[in-house]
Amino acid sequence: MTDTDVAIIGGGLAGSTAAAMLGRAGVGTILIDPHPIYPPDLRCEKLDGGQLSILCKTGLADAILPATTFDGSTRDGKAWVARFGHLIDKRPGGQYGILYDDLVNAMRAAIPPSVPRMIAKAVGLTVGDDRQQVSLSNGTSISARLVVLAHGPSVALKDQVGIQRTVTSPCHSITAAFDIKPAHAGAFDFAALTYYPERTPDRMAYLTLFPIRTSMRANLMVYRTMDDPWLRDIRRDPGRSLFALMPNLRRLTGDIEVVGPIKIRPADLYVSKGHRQAGIVLVGDAFASSCPAAGNGTGKVFNDVERLCNIHIPNWFMSSGMAADKIAQFYDDPVKWGYDEAAAAFAYQLRSMSIEEGFTWSLQRYLRFIARGAIGSARRLGMIAIADRVASEEWTQRLRSLGDRA
Ligand SMILES: Cc1cc2nc3c(=O)[nH]c(=O)nc-3n(C[C@H](O)[C@H](O)[C@H](O)COP(=O)(O)OP(=O)(O)OC[C@H]3O[C@@H](n4cnc5c(N)ncnc54)[C@H](O)[C@@H]3O)c2cc1C
Repeated sequence: MTDTDVAIIGGGLAGSTAAAMLGRAGVGTILIDPHPIYPPDLRCEKLDGGQLSILCKTGLADAILPATTFDGSTRDGKAWVARFGHLIDKRPGGQYGILYDDLVNAMRAAIPPSVPRMIAKAVGLTVGDDRQQVSLSNGTSISARLVVLAHGPSVALKDQVGIQRTVTSPCHSITAAFDIKPAHAGAFDFAALTYYPERTPDRMAYLTLFPIRTSMRANLMVYRTMDDPWLRDIRRDPGRSLFALMPNLRRLTGDIEVVGPIKIRPADLYVSKGHRQAGIVLVGDAFASSCPAAGNGTGKVFNDVERLCNIHIPNWFMSSGMAADKIAQFYDDPVKWGYDEAAAAFAYQLRSMSIEEGFTWSLQRYLRFIARGAIGSARRLGMIAIADRVASEEWTQRLRSLGDRA
């Protein structure tokens, strides 16, 4: 039996970030994960400015940024935005491309040697007010003051302690990811491109093209079922399916070639119930999933871990015991649930905005189109301050409420 203060189960993004933060803060921590190196896995493939600002609060941005490709420093540094087939804005780049395994492995490299890594699966868990017991697939056991459950969507350990996973929206969205290059020699004219759908029946949220190292990565977000024949078609001939879905895309990209494999993965939205328990706290996807199209899962991970490791764990360890009312302080933290609620609301809003017919949704789409066009025009005319003002959250809210009232 090994004793520690914190046992982290799961060394994905959430668990590795927590291990790096706690290890650097000198908290006795053990990280448990069966993979010595995080394997290739289709998940988040870029960080935006909002995610980066939360990452900065963890103190770990310096460990991650060198492994990313910033679109603002590639080609002309401009991220193009197209809607309904029209190029409406060329804004400064602001995304940091990185494959998920590279992201997690960069985070793991930031974990100090004082944090032991157990290369095993946690297979047994008992929790209580004082000490928690974790048994591992390699036959060893760990006793900890606190268990941080960061094991992503798994359910087996949750079942053991009576935490339920409730799916609130099965197959909420599907992500397809692949590399592209121009069919003819040369490079794309843009550093990055986000392309919003031309028609609602296409059941598409958007296509985003962004650099990762020397490749142009494509993430296509759609709202379909896994048995939709369209998925079979895009696997067989991705280039043809892309242009069939977005005929005007070719005007911006020219002819393209899809390079390497295409990965396709659905995402369910789910939440946890019965998680307010002594001795155990859930973070990242172990607590609740997010919609890949909404693009806030990584922000949710960083937000959870930053609050937990900067605020709550230091407070909890100032007194003995780990009763449920201590743990509840994390779930009741307005910064934590505020982010979670906004992420969940945006997942549904984006889906409706992308696929719902009817006057209200059409009006909102057109208002967005006009607003984004205005931003682009202002930027072209050199009125950067006006462009930024129109792009601000306040104005986005105003446009939304106008659509809601209609
Ligand atoms: C297809 C897809 C695309 C996405 N795209 C985006 C995006 O564009 N932007 C965005 O912000 N978010 C995106 N997300 C969401 C984001 O990637 C996730 O929210 C985030 O990766 C969750 O990290 P995590 O550490 O909680 O879970 P994971 O990364 O799943 O880590 C879980 C870890 O736990 C380990 N584990 C499991 N069981 C055990 C056990 N019993 N014992 C020990 N270890 C265990 C696993 O090996 C793994 O290492 C996407 C998600 C998906 C599925």
